Amino acid sequence: MTKVIINGSKGRMGQALIDCANRMDGVEVAAQVDMGDALADVIADADAVIDFTLKDATLDVAKLCAANKKPLVIGTTGHEDDERAQITSLQSEIPIVWASNFSTGVNTLFWLTRKAAEILGPDFDLEVVEMHHRHKVDAPSGTARTLGEILCDVRDKSYNDDIRHGREGMVGARTSEEIGMHSLRGGSVVGDHTVVYAGDGARVELSHKAASRDTFANGALRAAVWAVGKSPGLYDMQNVLGLE
Ligand code: NAD
Repeated sequence: MTKVIINGSKGRMGQALIDCANRMDGVEVAAQVDMGDALADVIADADAVIDFTLKDATLDVAKLCAANKKPLVIGTTGHEDDERAQITSLQSEIPIVWASNFSTGVNTLFWLTRKAAEILGPDFDLEVVEMHHRHKVDAPSGTARTLGEILCDVRDKSYNDDIRHGREGMVGARTSEEIGMHSLRGGSVVGDHTVVYAGDGARVELSHKAASRDTFANGALRAAVWAVGKSPGLYDMQNVLGLE
């Protein structure tokens, strides 16, 4: 039995994680932690910690996990590069599974996105479109960022320099260098992502649409079970699923 702590337990993902853990064989929720609770008081009883909170909370959680030698699964998104670097530096002490998206379907999309970019080649213009519920605080989504990073990797581009976030006004003709990124917000949408490959006379679109948070929660719980006993290091869901 793998005993997990859910950090951010009162949130949308926290609630889905608790429901899914209660239905999953081999997993038990050792503690539910949210604002005002002390993770330090309960961490000793757990095999792993799962964090779905806010970006400012992640570093302290990671330090506590490192001090207690507990694997950490991070679902939280929206970190700046320097925050990400501080957190990932702890990979020398504990296994950290950090995925912008824990759904098996989206990880299949990640794999297909790379393949399609390689097959279609530089003649196809690349755009990423994502849509989420009206409460989401960061943009673009962490998943859209990962899709952008995959496309940049295939095209030998830089995420910070070559991604074009939205367009407005007299922006001029589209260059072949840019990769477009567009965020839609509204309603209760759990998470839609589409990668558009637009060529002369043909367009390919790869889409994933999440209908329930259970798809992320089940993946994060699977990652926590997988991480227990692993060597210290930085892993993602591709490692958990054996897709790398
Ligand atoms: P939410 O606002 O519904 O829940 C966040 C919870 O974290 C709240 O209950 C809040 O009180 C709690 N919290 C904030 N700071 C805390 C702290 N310091 N200690 C303990 N608890 C704290 O948000 P959500 O929709 O559940 O999403 C949470 C995060 O997960 C977001 O960053 C979101 O983008 C991300 N997310 C990731 C995936 C994935 O697969 N990786 C999927 C969905 C959402």
